[in-house]
Parts: sequence; structure tokens; C-alpha cells
Amino acid sequence: MVIRAENVRRRYGDTVALDGVSFSVESGEVFALIGPNGAGKTTLIRALTGTTQAEGTVELLGGAPEDAARHRIGLLPQEFSPAERLTARELLAYYAGLYDQSRDPDSVLDDVGLTDSADTYYENLSGGQKRRVCVGTALVNAPDVLILDEPTTGIDPNGRRELWALIEGLADTGTTVLLTTHYMEEAETLADRVGLLADGKLVELGSPEELIERHGGDSRLVVEADDAADATRALERAGYHLLPDETHVAVAAGPRDIPDIADALDDAGVDYEGLLWRQPGLDDVYVALTGTDVTATGDPITEGQP
Ligand code: ADP
Repeated sequence: MVIRAENVRRRYGDTVALDGVSFSVESGEVFALIGPNGAGKTTLIRALTGTTQAEGTVELLGGAPEDAARHRIGLLPQEFSPAERLTARELLAYYAGLYDQSRDPDSVLDDVGLTDSADTYYENLSGGQKRRVCVGTALVNAPDVLILDEPTTGIDPNGRRELWALIEGLADTGTTVLLTTHYMEEAETLADRVGLLADGKLVELGSPEELIERHGGDSRLVVEADDAADATRALERAGYHLLPDETHVAVAAGPRDIPDIADALDDAGVDYEGLLWRQPGLDDVYVALTGTDVTATGDPITEGQP
């Protein structure tokens, strides 16, 4: 067992940040902590890495976090801004210099896909490149366990995919990964297991498939109708079961129901721009368990910026 938390509690004054959290991460596993802002994710990461004290039992690499061998751990905090006036290579060399033994900075640059930007100042890199350099600083010591707090927040979709490929590659070579994210696609893509944290409690734990099976609900047909009320009325009249959907009209439906639903809409004279059939995903689990749409927790300012 690489990480173990048993009944972990942490308060800040009257605020209960962690309210009895228990879970463990096995060697070689990728574990994603998901949950809305303020759920306690960062506090849990800090407790697990020994930068804040918490009640209960916390173990990292088989002992107290403070005693864990530093060179075996790679940590990327949520807020991390390295020196702006160093190049990507200089930054990695700087962090590599903090360890007795470390990797060649150029091979880390290669891992994070930044060989071509090795001599670019940090401040001149794009948002995605910056975050990849930051991930690189957590890799210079070839860690056994990598802890990433919101590694892709504020990164554009391409940069996010590049980071996913990097994390998948590390997981394939046996690195244990604990990450936090509010991108459900990220958790679904990367994680062997997911823990959903809400109000300081771990409300669900399991593989993405298990959680979707338990809480995801039915497969659905989403109708992008010009007039949602019109579409809702027509589908109700035709006997379809409506599902909660933030932006469109959705009914429980298997793929074979699509022609009948299209006919029902046509018969009622409902105009629509698109029909999208999809299986439930982790985002539906998230809505079912937290009552909030996960997209509402995104950062509207940095979202989608390069
Ligand atoms: P998350 O990372 O899921 O957004 P946090 O762990 O940052 O959640 O926060 C959990 C709760 O603890 C929140 O209510 C937050 O306001 C509170 N909190 C976190 N850090 C501090 C702190 N240093 N002082 C006071 N309250 C804090």
C-alpha cells in the first residue's frame, strides 16, 4: 500500500475540511479524487504529504508522511509558480539539483514533450507548456509515487490530452499516481479508481465503471431542440421518461429507440438541431451524488485559454 488514510479529520476553526476520510492507494494504481471546490481535496493532499497536520492515520510509503523518502515522491501543488526568468531546461536542472540522484533534465523535457522549447523562458511558454514544465519538476527524481493537485486546470484541451498521455505513460511503467481533478473526462480516462469527496466526506469509491453502473442512470437521447418546452411536451406525450439535463432535453433511451423518438418529434412538429445518444458517464455520477453540475466548478477565467 503506497497511500493510506484512516478516519482523517481536519478543521480550520469552525470549518470542517475533512470529516473522517478513509481510503488507500495500491502500488501502481492511478487514483483520482474528484469533488466540487471546497470539498477538501487540497487539504487531503496536504495531510497525505505532511504539509498540514490532521487527526487520524495517514501513511505515505508505509510510514508517516514526514518520514517518507523525499526522492521517492513527486508532488505538484495546485498553486505552483516557478521562477519566470529561467528556461524550461534551467528550471528542470534547478529542481534536479535538489536531489542526490536525479534524472537528466533533457530526458525529462522529452517526457513532457518540451524538447523544442528547452531554451524558452518559462514566462514565454503557453499555459499548457508551463504546466507540463511544472509536472516535469515533479519527475526529476524519478518518483515511485506522483501526487498531482489539479494538474490540468486552466489548460486548453490539447494540452490536457498531452498531459493525460504523459500520466498514462508513467502509470504504465509502474508509477503510482494520486491526482485531484474536476474534469470528469480526466478521471474517467486516467483513473483505475475514483473517490468522490463532498463536504469533507468520501461519499463514493470505486472504478469509474462501477460508479457509472451504480449511479450513472440510463443511457439517453439528448434532444437539442429550438424550443425545449415544446420538445418536453411532445416526448412526455409519447410516453418517454425525461432525465435531468442542464442544457437540453434528455430522455432515457437505448440506441434502438432513436428512430421512434425522431418520429415522435416530427409528428409533433418539434424543430431540433441535433440528437445525441450517449451512455452515462462520470459526469452523470457527479450530478447524481453532489446535485451540482461539474462544469459549474470549472474556472471560467482560465478555462480554455492557451
Ligand atoms: P478543495 O481542494 O476540494 O477545493 P480545500 O481542501 O481547499 O478544498 O478546502 C476545504 C475547506 O477547508 C473549504 O471550506 C476551505 O474554505 C477550507 N480551508 C482550506 N484551507 C484553509 C485554510 N488554510 N484556512 C481556513 N480554511 C481553509
